[in-house]
Amino acid sequence: MDFKFLLVAINAKYIHSNPAVYSLRACAGEKLRRHVELAEYTINQPMAEILADIYARRPDAMGFSCYIWNWRLVRELLGELPKLLPDAAVWLGGPEVSYDADVILREYPQVAGIMVGEGEATFRELLDYYVKGARAAGREGEELVAGSGGEGEEPVVGAGSEGEEPAAGAGSEGEEPVAGAGSEGEEPVAGAGSGGEEPVAGAGSEGEESVAEAGRVDMESRVGAGEGSAVPECPCAAEEGRGRRKAGPAVGLADIPGLCLPTGYTPCRPLTDLSAIPFLYDDLAPFENRILYYETSRGCPFRCSYCLSSIDKAVRIRDMGLVEEELQFFLDHRVRQVKFIDRTFNCSHAHAMAVWTYLLEHDNGVTNFHFEISADILWEEEIELLSRFRPGLAQMEIGVQTVNPRTLEAIRRTMDIERLESAVTAIRRGGNVHLHLDLIAGLPYEGYESFGKSFDWVYRLRPHQLQLGFLKVLKGSEMWERAQEYGIRYLEQPPYEVLCTDWLSYGEVLRLKGVEEMVELYYNSGQFVHTLNFLENAFPGPFAMYEALADFYREEGHLAMSPARASRYQVLLDFAGRRDSRRREVYRELLTYDLYLRENAKSRPGFAPDISAWKEAARSFYREEEQRRRYLPDYEGFDSRQLGRMTHLEPFAYPVWDIDRMAAGYGAFGAGESMGHTFVLFDYRSRSPLNHEALARPIHGGLDSATGCCTDL
Ligand code: SF4
Repeated sequence: MDFKFLLVAINAKYIHSNPAVYSLRACAGEKLRRHVELAEYTINQPMAEILADIYARRPDAMGFSCYIWNWRLVRELLGELPKLLPDAAVWLGGPEVSYDADVILREYPQVAGIMVGEGEATFRELLDYYVKGARAAGREGEELVAGSGGEGEEPVVGAGSEGEEPAAGAGSEGEEPVAGAGSEGEEPVAGAGSGGEEPVAGAGSEGEESVAEAGRVDMESRVGAGEGSAVPECPCAAEEGRGRRKAGPAVGLADIPGLCLPTGYTPCRPLTDLSAIPFLYDDLAPFENRILYYETSRGCPFRCSYCLSSIDKAVRIRDMGLVEEELQFFLDHRVRQVKFIDRTFNCSHAHAMAVWTYLLEHDNGVTNFHFEISADILWEEEIELLSRFRPGLAQMEIGVQTVNPRTLEAIRRTMDIERLESAVTAIRRGGNVHLHLDLIAGLPYEGYESFGKSFDWVYRLRPHQLQLGFLKVLKGSEMWERAQEYGIRYLEQPPYEVLCTDWLSYGEVLRLKGVEEMVELYYNSGQFVHTLNFLENAFPGPFAMYEALADFYREEGHLAMSPARASRYQVLLDFAGRRDSRRREVYRELLTYDLYLRENAKSRPGFAPDISAWKEAARSFYREEEQRRRYLPDYEGFDSRQLGRMTHLEPFAYPVWDIDRMAAGYGAFGAGESMGHTFVLFDYRSRSPLNHEALARPIHGGLDSATGCCTDL
């Protein structure tokens, strides 16, 4: 039987995939690939279930891709696997184990070793070592001898080291090992990410030209030139005190660069040539209903102190010829969503323009592409290009993190806030690109009040999503080294999230958790856009509103995680009514409008106004529409009853569909004045590709409640 090396990925959610293990397998080469098997699980599966599945696969060796979200589960497995598969070598890789690999090996002596840094070439040589050893030993218990020749001979990925065959990259500890690096969060994405959070924006690296000062800085000088570019020297080369030796021809484990063994570290390995990595997705079957991750650059030119990507500043870019072929593959297969895992996608203007131009010219009308960008370095021509995108073609994730200048300086982000604001505003105005902005609580010099200001600043840019994250103190980051200096206390276990700092107490962190929950529930759900926009006027600012809403939930004993979505409308009405009782009926209408924008509710929600007096008017409208098709031309062939079921008609006393007018005239609404009713027709066949809201058409002139006739018809 063939030697089997099982690569294990334990993802945060089912819809995630782990590009790292796919990349390792792809880079194993044609002949060795048959010795690699992949197993993907999720952290929601019981450990015993994963254990049983691994046992059933009977691997000869195993490699675990370790991140903050799965490390606890991996450790549990490490305790059990040797009992069941005592002869199977266990290897680890990933950002969670790359920085203190020697410490981890001491803690887990059952682990054979750790692949440190980028893992493609390291894994290939490791696999070659085992396969040849198994063959030489006839798969008996003889000593495994590595060597050359045989299956492993084919040329490999990467930056060749010392005249040997080019091997897949290494280095940049902490970035992904069993590839991808940890963006704090959830997805097994490459790059390091602010403890996973963000990917985006950044500060000019120390000693480098500041983006802010330079105005429109061409980042090309900071990144690899792409095709044919020389692979940068491995940053590990300058490290001292870890017993690293010069790489030589591989004859044993100790000669494979990029490993940490019980005996110490092996030589460091040059960074991967990104263009030498094969495309990961020749077979899309395992990715049905899952997110596809795609990498066209690796490394980040910025140096945000909480982020592991800042350690590997050598940016490498995949050859554009390959990128075009691969984008076309996604487009031809009409993949639903592709997430670029490039840490700062637009750090190369030429690369960003080339990719976005290709997408604009080859759009299939279906696929959505997600990018993590730095908005303050966007060029005008990039913004203009984005403005021509189909709504839904792209979404941009932009890390702001804070607007406190002292904090920005401390975390080494020389972000140009004004430039960021104007870029985001321009993209937002286009109305065609989904915007996701990030904030991080718990950074140095940012207290509760300061965070509230950062929140309000970002909120007023009206992103489609606002992610309020909490600092994760990642092993190997500068923040980790300086945590004591800042008085940062954080969880001992993954995700190493901040508990308190010199500027933020634990009690305040808990209050911010409440705000985060409310933002998720009410803002990011996109279900209450009009209501929140109006309600904000009853508070000094949006942060104060979410803070008060969190207090209301706690005091009233409501559960933020309650599955009853309808109850959130009622709770918000109660909250708004208590705060702003004079306008309770305005909120009732706004909530009704928000609800019908999202769904054609089968039963009338309890909080909605009584419209029984308008029933006959609505029936008449649909009878008229059946004859004249004035508002619903796409519903040819449906009779008035069907039209009534497929759409919704609702009378409103306030101009809820014009939220800018409502918000600007906040003081004028709610005094009990009668404004007459206007019907709004909700068309669920015409939804926005950005927020999925139904097309809402006010029928100006209204309907006569007695006859049902449209007075403007
Ligand atoms: S270093 Fe900064 S800009 Fe680069 S990926 Fe990390 S957080 Fe984003």
